[in-house]
Amino acid sequence: MNRPNVYDAIVVGAGPAGSMAAWRLASLGRRVVLLERGQHPGAKNLFGGMVYSLELRKHFPDFVTQAPIERPVTRHATYFLANGRSLNLDFSSETLGEPPYNGFTVYRSRFDRWLAERAVEAGALLVPSTVVDDLIVERGRVVGVVTRREEGELRAPVVICADGVLSLLGKKAGLIREQPRAHYSLGVREVLALPAGTIEERFQIDSGGGCAALFVGDWPGRVQGGGFVYTNRESLSVGFVAQLESLERERVSINEALEAFQRQPAVRRLIRGGERLEYGAHIVAEGGYRMRPRLVRGGMMLVGDAAGLVLAAGVLYEGVHYAMHSGVLAAETAHEALERGDLSARGLADYPRRLDASYVTRNLKAFRHVPRLLTNSRMYRVYPEAMCRVAEDFFSADAKGHAKLLPLLRRHFGKVGPLAALKDLWAAARALFF
Ligand SMILES: Cc1cc2nc3c(=O)[nH]c(=O)nc-3n(C[C@H](O)[C@H](O)[C@H](O)COP(=O)(O)OP(=O)(O)OC[C@H]3O[C@@H](n4cnc5c(N)ncnc54)[C@H](O)[C@@H]3O)c2cc1C
Repeated sequence: MNRPNVYDAIVVGAGPAGSMAAWRLASLGRRVVLLERGQHPGAKNLFGGMVYSLELRKHFPDFVTQAPIERPVTRHATYFLANGRSLNLDFSSETLGEPPYNGFTVYRSRFDRWLAERAVEAGALLVPSTVVDDLIVERGRVVGVVTRREEGELRAPVVICADGVLSLLGKKAGLIREQPRAHYSLGVREVLALPAGTIEERFQIDSGGGCAALFVGDWPGRVQGGGFVYTNRESLSVGFVAQLESLERERVSINEALEAFQRQPAVRRLIRGGERLEYGAHIVAEGGYRMRPRLVRGGMMLVGDAAGLVLAAGVLYEGVHYAMHSGVLAAETAHEALERGDLSARGLADYPRRLDASYVTRNLKAFRHVPRLLTNSRMYRVYPEAMCRVAEDFFSADAKGHAKLLPLLRRHFGKVGPLAALKDLWAAARALFF
């Protein structure tokens, strides 16, 4: 491993951020090595299930026929659940099923592998089964990494850290500060096998479509979080993301939270008979824009989840294409800095500038108030139930006659109290509307 100055750049982590950084650098003619701790890219990675195609459309125009796509997402359903009741907001569109698609479901083990192959095809050297433990710092500048291999030091003028949400290297470099626990959630996801026809019938999609279903509610155990079900071709990705603090406070394990979610009648009907193929858990950083670390120091840049680039805004859950975009921007900045021979923090400062001018920062900024909104327990314990009860009363026949919606809203939302309701309404409007 110890071949000084052979590489222009080292990329740590072959997730979407790292593979795109390595692909872009190699495409620009740079010698780049991509280090991944898993046996192959994606081997250790899991997520909910949907990738937006934005970056793929731009960089790999043939991706529709080449990438391991499960199903394009043509239906988005949001369920509010409470005590056996369910109210559903449903959107579906044929247009979303037309190539090159808006977004689609994937298995990360296949998708990440495919993306890393693009980097290798462009000339990057992929070294799997290699854990990076440390940085080599000389005269205040990062000049390489230490891997857990014999003679495992590797040097290059620039290191791009794409090592994910808990970024050990970002912390070692002093770029990432200790974050409050409230910024983190724990996600668990299992893959359940079901025949394609059953999936299409239950999710009201045709063979060229797919569904992303998200669930908000008052879960048994009072855990604050939400569930999801994404349709793959012949399986479902079913999971639950819970705020770490609420799991600890309620003394509920993430497995118990997942089971409670799966017992909800509206969920049970969708996943019934599914045979478990995979299971895994992963931390998610949900602090959004407020938790963004410093992204650059001399010889080093942070990309993807390591840079806190995840939008967890309830019905919007986005990280993969942000990771890909940040990887490309960091690679282009590194390439130009190498050209100028200036790998100092100032020489790499274009990367945060470009990121700030991109849709990634625009989205994170636009939804920056959402994380606080989602820590409000009424969003889980009160409002889903109130919405369901309004619907139940509205659809129930009664000898007194049907109540109109305003009295029903007063009856069920009135319990909150006018001040708290106004505060919540303002917080929700600020987070989501303007
Ligand atoms: C439960 C859950 C559901 C989600 N749902 C969605 C969704 O539906 N859509 C969406 O867009 N996003 C979703 N996300 C977010 C998304 O998964 C991330 O934003 C995205 O994976 C970030 O990519 P990345 O390349 O930065 O990091 P990662 O995908 O985490 O990749 C990091 C890579 O670095 C490697 N690595 C780490 N440390 C080292 C080391 N020391 N040495 C060598 N290699 C190392 C890892 O093995 C891994 O391959 C979800 C996340 C979770 C947890």
